[in-house]
Amino acid sequence: MNNLINKVAENLNKNNMEAFVVESKEEVLPLLKSLLDDGTSVGVGGSVTLNEVGVLTFLREGNYKFFDRYAEGLSRDEAVEVMRQSLLADAFITSSNAVTESGELYNVDGNGNRVAAFCFGPKKVIVVVGANKIVKDLKAAEQRVKTIAAPLNCKRLGIETPCFKTNECISLKNEEREMCDGCLNEGRICSTYVVSGYQRIKDRIKVIICKENLGY
Ligand code: SF4
Repeated sequence: MNNLINKVAENLNKNNMEAFVVESKEEVLPLLKSLLDDGTSVGVGGSVTLNEVGVLTFLREGNYKFFDRYAEGLSRDEAVEVMRQSLLADAFITSSNAVTESGELYNVDGNGNRVAAFCFGPKKVIVVVGANKIVKDLKAAEQRVKTIAAPLNCKRLGIETPCFKTNECISLKNEEREMCDGCLNEGRICSTYVVSGYQRIKDRIKVIICKENLGY
């Protein structure tokens, strides 16, 4: 696993993304602190990984301008406005649905705000991933979302899509499927697909790979 993680980090670096490797989740917050200047504005993407690491509390208690989409008492419209503001933050912290051995980030989103941040907007995007997110290639990344990430997220969020019940995407029944095939449920969380390969802005995307498993 060490060799694999080093290979992924090397390939992320080749793709102009700055990779960091940490041994455990306890090392993530100190590293994040070193990457964020005091007073910086920060947004976050929805992520079990960030919850497991304690990122939300860290941002609330730190000296940051945190666009907190989860703040108590926010209406849905207010939360969406915070998500919009987060796209112009100095930094955006998120996880990734998968990281390929070749150093690509693969993400699928329902609202689209999280994947939008990967593409453009925040000056810096910091991605926290556990070793469980590493996959061989983009095909395996697609499979990972359709059989692990999406079903578990639908269960977590209580969205009764087909995969909520069967633990895999309905599109897997079709051998001829295209990547974006899926259900027609109005709560579908797999709407927008983004692959981050070689980046024009060097080190705008920073990837912290934790040797432990985090999120799903
Ligand atoms: S497209 Fe629908 S059924 Fe397929 S993984 Fe996404 S939410 Fe689940």
